[in-house]
Order: sequence, then structure tokens, then C-alpha cells
Amino acid sequence: MNEFGTNTQDEEAPALNLPPITGEYVRETPAYAKPAPIDPDQIRYQEPRVRIILEENDAIPPNGQFFGINGIGYLLRPGREADVQVGIVDILNHAVMATPVVDDVTKHPAFAESTRRIAERYDAAGEALDVTTCVDPVRGGRIGAMWLIPRSAEDLGRRRAVHRFWAEGSYGLMGRTPDHVASVLTAFAGWRQLFDRGGRHFGDNVVRFYEKARDEDLYLAYAIVPPQIDRSTPAHKHPEPFLHPGVVKETDAGIVIRGAHSIATSVTMADWLYVSYITPLAPGDVDYAISLVVPVNADGLRLLPRRPYATLATSVYDYPLSARFDEVDTTVVFDDVLVPWEHVFVYRNVELVTAQFHESPAHVTANFQSLVRFGVKLELLAGLAMKLVEVGRGEGDANTQATLGGEIATYCAMFDALVKAAERFPLVGEGYARPHPQYIYAGMSLQRRLIVDLYRTVRELAGGAFQHLPSSEASFLSPETRAHTERYYQSTAAGARDRVKLLKLIWDFIGTEYGGRQLQYEMFYSAAQPVVNRRMFRSYDWASAKALVDRLLSEY
Ligand SMILES: Cc1cc2nc3c(=O)[nH]c(=O)nc-3n(C[C@H](O)[C@H](O)[C@H](O)COP(=O)(O)OP(=O)(O)OC[C@H]3O[C@@H](n4cnc5c(N)ncnc54)[C@H](O)[C@@H]3O)c2cc1C
Repeated sequence: MNEFGTNTQDEEAPALNLPPITGEYVRETPAYAKPAPIDPDQIRYQEPRVRIILEENDAIPPNGQFFGINGIGYLLRPGREADVQVGIVDILNHAVMATPVVDDVTKHPAFAESTRRIAERYDAAGEALDVTTCVDPVRGGRIGAMWLIPRSAEDLGRRRAVHRFWAEGSYGLMGRTPDHVASVLTAFAGWRQLFDRGGRHFGDNVVRFYEKARDEDLYLAYAIVPPQIDRSTPAHKHPEPFLHPGVVKETDAGIVIRGAHSIATSVTMADWLYVSYITPLAPGDVDYAISLVVPVNADGLRLLPRRPYATLATSVYDYPLSARFDEVDTTVVFDDVLVPWEHVFVYRNVELVTAQFHESPAHVTANFQSLVRFGVKLELLAGLAMKLVEVGRGEGDANTQATLGGEIATYCAMFDALVKAAERFPLVGEGYARPHPQYIYAGMSLQRRLIVDLYRTVRELAGGAFQHLPSSEASFLSPETRAHTERYYQSTAAGARDRVKLLKLIWDFIGTEYGGRQLQYEMFYSAAQPVVNRRMFRSYDWASAKALVDRLLSEY
């Protein structure tokens, strides 16, 4: 047993006498898997599957793994539908008490594969506990490392390792993995004094929810930027009230929220949603000055996703990233959502909502994760660029080597150095080690500009290669086109199938609708360029720089 009273991976799960899971077995092929891949080893979902759903009161007993860091545990949280292989139902029969549902619940190929990737990562996390967990310095015992309140550079090193672990699961292509908002909440808990200023019970709420999220390893998304309705007027002066989320009513049980936030990436895969404003509020915006958490299945919470890319993909071979790594940006609408008082961190307090991200270490802690994740993506980009060159036998060309070195490798090394500098030289105060803001904001400011340059460099290396591609994987199958496809899409470095596979991957990375969204994400996931630049302005050590000038001036 571990400190939470659940079994660790090394111990045998206890025998349980629970009712068996029954249900209709369904055979389904997601839309993106058509036409059928020609390599039988690559055919997915060939095993019969059963769909199950947990009800609110169903218990999840110990299942032989670190609770929460486990793909099945993630998929089978109450209220979440899961589509699992029949082969593991026996295991589940001994692990969960589940209620089957008939096959009339909509299955979403739009979300299924991304959610599966997250579940796989939770599984992998359970097998890499030395990276994904660490000793809780307060209570002893182990906690998920993404929940560690950093008190030193070494603690930030542990956090970097777990961020990297999560980023590698999506090759850096998913930004809002569970460790992102976990970083915000961890920083809030490590800086509860800010929330105490609104009343000590609010600080208690922050710490209590942090502990719950940590112990249950909850997946949180966040919505903290409102829709662009009218930049020239504050929320309380809009033509209608509560276009942006705000408090319409206060009751003994809690507060009632109405309005909409513009984007909550990954919320379709998350358990809870954190809601507030990172954009400035005006003094009269007191009804909008909130900071709180709601479960994603709260009554009245509506999720309006943009068009998911997985359903646009004709096959994994043709759109390997669109089909599998779309974290789906989603507008969230609050149709009078009741939020119990215990889930409220700031209430009708403009000053605290404004202060919470920057006065606390939340912004730099969360963006430390973002930069670690971006570093993994840069490695992917570097690898793709090199392979692109190699598949055309261009690696020996001096100009191409200069481009790869100066326009790609330089930036990859530079970002790696910025992340490590932020970690090795933290600002430690009041028991918390902040990743150094100077390096965090330098990274964020450069990232927004350089991602455009990096994409352009890959395009320049490719020329027309992405447009000289067969229309789909089916071209390799049709008797009409097969021979020509095999013959005219090859290179001397690779057969046609492998070359086309690589080029389609790169095009999905930079050129498809998915690729375009990736670019927009890096440019705006936190804020517009001038906003980030001003943060850099405030973080740099101008005093030291000016002192150097003064010394020079005083010499003559
Ligand atoms: C792919 C993606 C995923 C995202 N995921 C999340 C998420 O998970 N959670 C979340 O809360 N948010 C998310 N965001 C939202 C993100 O935080 C915002 O897009 C970001 O803060 C910028 O705000 P904005 O979109 O309102 O753009 P703006 O800040 O309005 O910037 C757009 C342009 O307008 C200019 N501008 C800004 N203010 C003015 C003004 N007053 N007058 C004239 N021009 C102005 C800017 O310089 C910029 O050129 C995501 C965004 C993207 C693109």
C-alpha cells in the first residue's frame, strides 16, 4: 500500500468480488482509418470493443497501479465513457464496478484518438514512476511530480523531467496536457497568501482543491481569455451583460456563472476546468472578477469545439498528426452554472484576479511547462528537416548544411539553454522557486517570432515536394495508379511508400489545417507578441545594465 491507501504497481491487486461488466460488443472503424491501410500490422481497432460508462457513485477500487497515473483509471472516471478492448474487460471486472450502456451513445472519432493518446501516457506514467512521481517534501510518500511545489532548482529539474515526459507523448504537439494547468494550481497553492487577501477561506479553497487534484491526479484545462467582443470597452459596458463570464447570482450554496470564454484547449479530455481572466479587468468589472474551478460535466457547462481535425483526416497515413494529436480548442459557455463556494478562489475582486498570475509564480511556472514542451517540438522539427533533406540526398550540400545549422539547430540549442537557465537560476522567495522570469519571457518572446521563421525554413527546404504527392494512400492500392505511384514518387534514398509517408507527416506538421493551427498556437497560446514583449521588459535586469553604463561614464 502506498500513502494513499492504494496499491503500488509492485504489489498484487486484491481479489475483488464485483459484478461482471456486460454490454454490447461493437466493431467500429473510425472515419479516418478509411480506406483500410494496406499493412495488416498497422490496422487499428481490429479487436472487438465494448463501451462502458461509470456512474457517479461507482467506486474505483485499487487496481494494482498508482491511482490516477493509469490510462484506464483516467478513462474510467465517473461520467466518462470508455471504449475498451474486450480482452481487458476481465481485468476491469476485477477492478471497477461499471454500468454498461447500450450502443446509442454518440461515439466521437473527433476526440477518441487524442483521448486514447492521453490514456496511453497515463499508462506510461505508471511505468516511469521515478520520473513522473517524487517524494512529497511535506508529508513524505510519493506524489505526481507535476504537483511538486518547487523550492529549489533541483525541484524545477524534477518538474522539467515530468513536463518532458508528457510532451514526448505527443512529440510536443499538444500544449495543454495535464501538467500545464497542474502547474498553475501548484503555484497558486504555493502562494496561497495572495488568495488569503480576499479572506482566509479562499486560500483554504485553493489549497484544498490543489490537494484533491494532486491526490486524484486530476486533469484540468483552463479558460481565462474572453471572446473578442469589443476591445475598446470593458465587460460591464458591453451592449449586453455577461457576454463574458460573470456572477449573475449569489446563493448560500455558491455563485451562478453566465457568459462565455473563447478557448479552452483540451477541455474535452479533461476532468475539471479552471475559469478566470488573464486579460485585464476594468475597475467596474467586479461581477466578472472571478477565479474558480468547475467539473467539466457541471450542469449548464456547454462545450462548443471548433472543427476537430481527426474527422477531416482520410487516413493516419495521409494525416498522421491531424488524426491523432488534435487537442481540440473549445469555446466554453456557462449557462448559469452553479459553483459551490468551496470551488471559488477569488470572488468579485478585480485586484486579486489581476494579481493572481503574475504576483504569484503561476505564469512563469505554467510557461516553464510550455517551453519544455516547445523544446520537444523543436527536436521533432529538426529531425523532420534533416530527414527531408536526406530523403532528397541533399545532406552533403554546403548551403543546405548552413541552413540546417543556422536556421534550425541554432534555435533548438538556444531554447534548450533558456529552459535550463530558467531552471538552474530560479528566483527563490517565500519558499517558492520561480523559474527565472527573464529566461521564461525571453523564450516566449522569441518563440512567437521564430516559429514563423522555422516553418518558412522547412518550406524552403521542401520546394514543391509537398505538392508532388499522391492524393491519398489509396494511390498505392489502385491497379490504375499503383505502378506509377511506386515508380515516380520514390527517391534514391527511399522507396515511394516511405518517402511519401515522411512528406505527408511534414506537411501535416506545417501545412494542413492542423499545421496552421499549430503555428497559431505557438503565436498566441499565452498572449499576443506585444504583451509578451512587455513582460520581458519588466523582467529584465535593467538596473545592472544601467549600472555598467554609469561605471563607464564615471571613468572620464
Ligand atoms: C490555438 C490556441 C489555443 C489556445 N488555448 C487556450 C486555452 O487553453 N485557454 C485559454 O484561456 N486561452 C487559450 N487561447 C487563447 C489565448 O490565450 C489568446 O488567444 C491570447 O491570450 C491572445 O488573446 P486574443 O486571442 O484575444 O488576441 P489579442 O490579444 O486580441 O491579439 C490579437 C491581435 O490584436 C492586437 N490587439 C490586442 N489588443 C488590441 C487593442 N486593444 N486594439 C487593437 N489591437 C489589439 C494584438 O496585438 C494582436 O495583433 C488559445 C489561443 C490559441 C490561438
